[in-house]
Amino acid sequence: MIRGPRHLLCVATSVALLSVVPALRAAGDWSLDEMPLDRSAEQLRLDTQGHLAAARELRSEILAVEGPRTVDNTLALLNDLYMHLDASASENDLFQEVHPDADVRTAAEENRQEISAFITELSLDRALYEAIAAIDLEGADAPTRFAVSKELRDYRRSGVDQPPEVQARIAELNKEIVALGQEFSRNIKDDVRELVLEDASALEGLPADYIAANEADDGTYVIDTTYPDYIPFMRYSKDAEKRHEMYLLYTNRGYPANVDVLETLIKKRDEKAKLLGYDNWAAYVTEDKMVGSASAADAFIKKIAGVSRASAERDYRVLVDAKRVDFPDATDVADWEKSYYGEKVRAAKYEFDSQAVRPYFDYDSVRRGIFDVTSRMFGVRYEPVEGLALWHEDVTAWDLYDGDEHLGRFFLDMHPRKNKYGHAAQFDYRSGVAGKRVPVAALICNFPNPRDSEDGTALMEFGQVSTYFHEFGHLLHNLFAGHRRWVMNTGISTEWDFVEAPSQMLEEWLYDAETLQSFAKHHETGEPIPEELIAKIKAASDFGKGMNTAHQAFYAALSYNCYARDAATIDTTALVQELQAEYSPFAYVDGAHFQCNFGHLDGYSAIYYTYKWSEVIAKDMFSKFEETGVLNPETARLYRERVLEPGGSRPAADLVKDFLGREYAFDAFQRWLDEGGPDA
Ligand SMILES: [Zn+2]
Repeated sequence: MIRGPRHLLCVATSVALLSVVPALRAAGDWSLDEMPLDRSAEQLRLDTQGHLAAARELRSEILAVEGPRTVDNTLALLNDLYMHLDASASENDLFQEVHPDADVRTAAEENRQEISAFITELSLDRALYEAIAAIDLEGADAPTRFAVSKELRDYRRSGVDQPPEVQARIAELNKEIVALGQEFSRNIKDDVRELVLEDASALEGLPADYIAANEADDGTYVIDTTYPDYIPFMRYSKDAEKRHEMYLLYTNRGYPANVDVLETLIKKRDEKAKLLGYDNWAAYVTEDKMVGSASAADAFIKKIAGVSRASAERDYRVLVDAKRVDFPDATDVADWEKSYYGEKVRAAKYEFDSQAVRPYFDYDSVRRGIFDVTSRMFGVRYEPVEGLALWHEDVTAWDLYDGDEHLGRFFLDMHPRKNKYGHAAQFDYRSGVAGKRVPVAALICNFPNPRDSEDGTALMEFGQVSTYFHEFGHLLHNLFAGHRRWVMNTGISTEWDFVEAPSQMLEEWLYDAETLQSFAKHHETGEPIPEELIAKIKAASDFGKGMNTAHQAFYAALSYNCYARDAATIDTTALVQELQAEYSPFAYVDGAHFQCNFGHLDGYSAIYYTYKWSEVIAKDMFSKFEETGVLNPETARLYRERVLEPGGSRPAADLVKDFLGREYAFDAFQRWLDEGGPDA
């Protein structure tokens, strides 16, 4: 079934329907030439209505079938129905987050609610469920059987076999959950807070281009809570008091409104899970993941905390030592100091200054580098698409080819602007379906903009380059996998806790000297990045992985416990304090309300553990590349064929096993945690 609204920080995929006002365009014309792009609010609304009308008609057609139910007379029509829902939900999800016109964003949000209501209606349609259950699968291939089995499971999880009064309540809850989730993320996105500095003294240590970009007309300096402002400030500003102030501005985005929004959301989800016969939402939401159960998720979080404890303590002591240079009596490092002293350690211990790295990462060269590296690995090519009416002048369009085969299209919307989604994510525009339409997707990021400087230079931080590789991993997964016959199996439709593995793995290429030197060239001299600098990047990135893993275990525990504890008495501020003390090396900071801007508590609900889960698998899969050479095209071909292209047509555990030739294991992850480190 079509997934409900799914706003992932990293991958936003959804399913729903697009096409066309039936009178204007024939329903089911999915050619790229007919694909609508930028639109007015009114046109987007009409298009959404067109898709919904087409979907309703297809449902009637399915229900009207007489005689034995077959793959052709039932599943194929259901697939067409989902293609409409997918396209419409996806474009509305995207425009809600990125469109410059507030009317379009509002229309997209309203459209999305209407689509979600229809998806809920479908998921409770007993006649439709019985029609799918009656399909004769004799002679059907394995992916078709798998698609149908997932469908039936998802219908049951929606409550299709519940009595009418329970179904009515679930439908109501689903609506409320969507609206609360939208309110939660809107409260975060709209709450950009500013620190106004009378002079530049607190900016000592920051790059000159940063200082210049943040100077206001009246001579003050304004630093806001968006990433491009916040992250460098916390890392380099020498003014401890201002960093503390900035941390509190940042960790209070969405506060106080989101305390109530979040706790209401938790209660609504808990009620839904209990109506369906589960102990709590955590039990419900883990059932269809690789992890399989709430207790296994809890055990995994504790295992991650356990394996990282020794290296986390070691890292923390190094940070305290660094702080003692400024404060000889220091015994701890606050959460708002970790990024500053982390940078000091990297600079002192590894002679690594991330400012020295930026000149090698000009935005345009990085973009070309990613295209070149992935072309080489996977034997594909990229071609620009000109002349499309896109939603903003910064957005570019590209086609991906393997020989003559058109694998898909994507949009790059890579630079910050007002009212745009503030993180980095891959969004679907349309899922691909074999023989019917190619996949179309968008990358939404917030990297420095070449148009902001006279000569087009836009220098990136190493972390931003890494994010670019990460998101590109999602994009390639989506485009390679977007050629399955059934919407339920296509694109990134694999188990949610596997989704991050391909993108996490692509980040590993950044630590390979040959790969990096192929594109990381000094923007003034053209010299490739020196090997010794690469070695320092690697050593510096190794520092802190223990305490970062422990802090991630805190996030995962918060996400899990929000939805595993008694919802009636939930107090999320108390929960943050309790779990931060238990898991994170960094104490809770008085006055912070991190849960109010932890967007994953809506999108991921209880399953933030998935990032570490898939990282364990990513490290394991990468070990196969290490064995054969990281740019080995044969290994890349096997990986593309066995892990990426099947999409969600088989369980992810089977795909990984096919590629590795064995079950996945923790060894590579444990090795990575243990290697390097400050004492090595
Ligand atoms: Zn991701």
